[in-house]
Amino acid sequence: MSTVALITGAASGIGASVARRLAARGVRCVVADLDEAGAERIAKEVGGVALAADVSTPEASERAVALAEEQYGRLDLVHLNAGISSGVDLAAFDLAQYRKVMGVNVDAVVFGVNAAVPLLRRSGGGAIVVTASLAGLVGFDGDPIYTLTKHAVVGLVRALAQPLAAQKIRISAVCPGFTDTPLVAGMKQVFVDAGFPLLTADDVAAAVESGFYSVEPGSLLVVQPGRQPVPYR
Ligand code: NAD
Repeated sequence: MSTVALITGAASGIGASVARRLAARGVRCVVADLDEAGAERIAKEVGGVALAADVSTPEASERAVALAEEQYGRLDLVHLNAGISSGVDLAAFDLAQYRKVMGVNVDAVVFGVNAAVPLLRRSGGGAIVVTASLAGLVGFDGDPIYTLTKHAVVGLVRALAQPLAAQKIRISAVCPGFTDTPLVAGMKQVFVDAGFPLLTADDVAAAVESGFYSVEPGSLLVVQPGRQPVPYR
């Protein structure tokens, strides 16, 4: 029986790379993303199924898990990865944008865990990896609200590690530094000009893969260019 994964934000960047890595291991992937065309494209590429959904609603997370069960009968791995940067300037606070960032970066992780745990348990256990960020450990003064959201999910992973481990579900997070994806396209030139190396999406996907298969529950894997991922202490 094949292993089955659900990946959110899988139409682009890190999530798409995770889908490719898992598919190369024979894992069947549910590719969930707001970007319908992108989700269809990656699902076709990896031989999985696509779900066009805004995962910041509980209903969408339930639908994604239901799709895994309908298509493949089980769920083993969950990558809660969808995320956006904030652009919320605290001095010129935009409530709608603030709620949107909290919805995608925090609420979607809570809803994703809640939706997935019952099917993971019925499948005999499994693993959840959340894409947090180095900003969730050390902060990023260029984006305070993004920093807040990533600290929030780091806290959630820590708090859920033991209760979920008791249900044979290992939850962990990856905490990458700047990664060359569309999310940071607007800032890329600054890094290039400064000679500062960026991670590739596949560097981070490799860390997510180790989160699925080998790390301790509650691990926060720091991913930086040119170094092996290391658990944050
Ligand atoms: P990306 O923009 O390439 O991919 C993010 C994907 O999430 C996109 O396909 C987008 O359509 C999808 N998405 C956004 N809102 C959604 C929603 N409401 N519902 C469903 N899908 C939605 O960016 P990426 O860099 O691959 O980002 C993936 C994760 O990595 C994010 O959580 C991000 O915060 C985190 N991260 C990125 C970096 C970086 O430097 N790129 C560093 C640390 C952490």
